[in-house]
Amino acid sequence: MTDVDAIVVGAGFSGLYTLHRLRELGLSAVVLERGSGVGGTWYWNRYPGARCDIESIDYCYSFSRELLEEWEWTERYATQPEILRYLEHVADRFDLRRDIRLGTTVTAATWEHEHWAVETDAGDTLTAQHLVLAVGNLTAVKRPDFAGLEEFEGDWYHTARWPGEGVDLRGRRVAVIGTGSTGIQAIPRIAAQAEHLVVFQRTPNYSMPAVNRPLDPAELRDAVAGYDERRRRARESDAGVPIAPPERAALDATPDERRAAYETGWRRGGINALSNAFTDLFTDAEANRTAQEFARSRIREVVRDPVVAEALCPSHTIGTKRTCVDIGYFETYNRENVELVDVRRSPIEAITARGVATADAEHPVDVIVFAIGFDAMTGALLEIDIRGRDGLALRDAWEAGPRTLLGVATAGFPNMFIVTGPGSPSVLSNMVVSIEQHVDWIADCIAHLRERGVAWIEAGEDAQDAWVEHVAALADATLYPEATSWYLGANIPGKPRVFMPYVAGCGAYRRECDEVAARGYEGFVLGTREAQATTGRRA
Ligand code: NAP
Repeated sequence: MTDVDAIVVGAGFSGLYTLHRLRELGLSAVVLERGSGVGGTWYWNRYPGARCDIESIDYCYSFSRELLEEWEWTERYATQPEILRYLEHVADRFDLRRDIRLGTTVTAATWEHEHWAVETDAGDTLTAQHLVLAVGNLTAVKRPDFAGLEEFEGDWYHTARWPGEGVDLRGRRVAVIGTGSTGIQAIPRIAAQAEHLVVFQRTPNYSMPAVNRPLDPAELRDAVAGYDERRRRARESDAGVPIAPPERAALDATPDERRAAYETGWRRGGINALSNAFTDLFTDAEANRTAQEFARSRIREVVRDPVVAEALCPSHTIGTKRTCVDIGYFETYNRENVELVDVRRSPIEAITARGVATADAEHPVDVIVFAIGFDAMTGALLEIDIRGRDGLALRDAWEAGPRTLLGVATAGFPNMFIVTGPGSPSVLSNMVVSIEQHVDWIADCIAHLRERGVAWIEAGEDAQDAWVEHVAALADATLYPEATSWYLGANIPGKPRVFMPYVAGCGAYRRECDEVAARGYEGFVLGTREAQATTGRRA
């Protein structure tokens, strides 16, 4: 007898929905959450300017009609506080809190004869038949490892650990290190407060204008009225958003037609502003260059100082590192109190007592903001000492990079499910659409096992090898692996360079997952209570 049927790690979008679904199946479950509140990503990332870059109407749950009808998003792109309020509302609305233990870090999980024993930092051990890792992809922060940081006499913060009470930057000299999605959102807001801001940029990034605006309640009502169709389109799309896919190749269009298509996208704004304009942008380098040139021309138009403008112009393949979305980012460099330091020309050598020292100069500051990202996709999973069958450590099993079947399970770790794991399309998509699909698939799988008295399920080695190869082959047919991105672990020294996301899109992935389930969990190994293993096979 175990303490509960399932232990869920994490109370963000994934964990909350997992708890709800498991309860609907009649399972007992407990959610263990490190934060002192629910919300996951949206609990931790409280830095100035934090907001989602997927439209709020689409970046929300669809499982409850009532929830959709009662929640009123106020802006096209919701701010972090609004999304956190939404998730707190969901936790209350579905009475989830009574099964959530906050302030509890899972330190270890061990498979012990048909159940999991999960240890927490409070010294407790809890047992369950199923373990669902809903820990998020962008959870484990990349620690600033700059020489001399301990000497710094000012204050420093990582954006993903921003104090809940906020930081008053008025009258202070601030450094921001990092110009990814986070830095690009935070920099305009910090510049508006600080006396002086120095931005340390290593790689310039492409950023699309958000074209944010208040949401008209009538528009929201219309969207909700037609939501079933809207969400169906999102689920079947590549990126989990209900936009029509492009029909034409950039290289089949004339320069004027291309420019017109990019202008239209730019005016609409959002993460897909350029990338959805043509079919060949992710597969043909020359096609991609046409979008790059358009994006660079926009930076040159906005940024008045031509030297600064050139330093802000990215040269990598557009879309292969996560595209950013901003509100007034490039305009910020026209402010008198903002300075750009190109770290590629003048590398950061150390943090000193007074500020940041590069090869050329020391920049005295009172506050350093590290917007340097995450040990993405695997970091939060590998922080936990997970031991599967015969004591196999997940850290060893994934030493050369993560290996999963469908992104949801990994060989040697029975009854362990990963929500939005490596090998799934989640990070390339509207995360909430992906989360609902993963959690539904996992819940259906657990229901299938229970109906048949099956004690455990595990990814089969051969099917897992085939999935890993399939994910790699899909990526290799695109321009994605060219970029030194967190998608392939390139931002973390020593991390295996393995391209982790499934690139063929949410719709294609959903069909692959559904087929596996329809064939009796083909490729998985299922064990009965008498510990006989059977292989999932075609029905
Ligand atoms: P990130 O994309 O990994 O960006 C980190 C930045 O820090 C990069 O500019 C990187 O430069 C720089 N950096 C890292 N180490 C450095 C060092 N030692 N010296 C100098 N620069 C250094 O991290 P992020 O901006 O936090 O974003 C991570 C992901 O979170 C995004 O891609 C997105 O998926 C998600 N996100 C989404 C939203 C949203 O929905 N609006 C907002 C924020 C984040 P290099 O590029 O040269 O490595």
